Amino acid sequence: MTDDPGSPTGDLLVGEPSAPSGPAGADWAAAVDAVRRLTPDSRVLLICHVNPDGDALGSMLGFGLGLRRLGLRGVQATFPGPPEVPEPFRDLPGLDLLVPAAEAYPDPDLVLCFDAASESRLGDLVDRLAVAAPAVVLDHHASNTGFGDVHLVDAGAAATSVVAEELLTRLDVPLDAEIAECLYVALATDTGSFRFDATTPDVHRMAARLLATGIRPGEISRRIFDTRPFGAVRLYGDVLGRTRLEPAAAGGHGFVWTYATLADLERHEQRPYVLEPLIDSVRCTAEADVSGVLKQIAEDGWAVSLRSKGAVDVSRVAVTLGGGGHRFAAGFTGRGTAQEVVARIRAELDSALTQARERD
Ligand code: AMP
Ligand code: MN
Ligand code: MN
Repeated sequence: MTDDPGSPTGDLLVGEPSAPSGPAGADWAAAVDAVRRLTPDSRVLLICHVNPDGDALGSMLGFGLGLRRLGLRGVQATFPGPPEVPEPFRDLPGLDLLVPAAEAYPDPDLVLCFDAASESRLGDLVDRLAVAAPAVVLDHHASNTGFGDVHLVDAGAAATSVVAEELLTRLDVPLDAEIAECLYVALATDTGSFRFDATTPDVHRMAARLLATGIRPGEISRRIFDTRPFGAVRLYGDVLGRTRLEPAAAGGHGFVWTYATLADLERHEQRPYVLEPLIDSVRCTAEADVSGVLKQIAEDGWAVSLRSKGAVDVSRVAVTLGGGGHRFAAGFTGRGTAQEVVARIRAELDSALTQARERD
């Protein structure tokens, strides 16, 4: 990907997408070699990003099940932070691979990271990268920082599970229904149920391979996308009721946003992960290109989700504010009051758009 800020594609205004470049042949070979060198009792640690989503968990567990099919008995999967799997993912195959971060091998023989664009997304588990040789990174973020030793990073891939499936194929692990369900959840999550532009013919071909194992897409989708506790439905009512539309923001492209506090969660007795799909109810606003949801995680801390319909590259805003992501779906952690964090986003959208115009 072209990330030079001075190049045409470096502008915040989105131009032609640059040609996606997949992992190098040497990296594929190194990853295959690293797995082939393992013995049945080797300690293999799989790590995905903090607050794991469908792609993080699905690609990690699907690959972990594949390693098991190769006869590896010492496979662990983990993620930083509290060892709580969001309710929609509690029926995923391979959950028995999961261990709390505190119990993960301190000195694994091999580490593989899933769906993390930077080391900061791995929390305290980042120290495992230093002890294992090599650390293999499977990811699809254009903002990936290049951490780790073997880089299976494909910014053109719709999900990390696309990269995971390719590595399984290169390891001669056939798809079965359990592996397929994990990879399907990952693919369906990151393509917004096959609605986003990332939904290429290759994505549908991969979905066809996964469905051919006999998995049930209706059942899986209902569980992942269409099930929510009643308390969460009421919570969404409160939070959506305070949504603000700023038509003049983002250089006139419009910005719509809302926030959810810890008190909101407490009032409705809900866990934080129920807020993950909230951005989808905000980003549908016709009058705004850019949307944002601030989810309170501490007294003065907010996990921010940003989305764009195409006029603005929100990953540039997120990276400037300390986060990362994709052109049309990005995030960062903000400090201060909700109003202060929103003011920073607003200013970043405006200043970046002004710079883009001045260069033209
Ligand atoms: P989300 O809004 O949480 O669904 O995230 C959208 C995209 O932004 C995902 O690709 C995330 O990996 C990325 N992202 C979200 N939060 C952060 C963060 N704090 N740092 C880096 N990337 C992030
Ligand atoms: Mn993710
Ligand atoms: Mn992903």
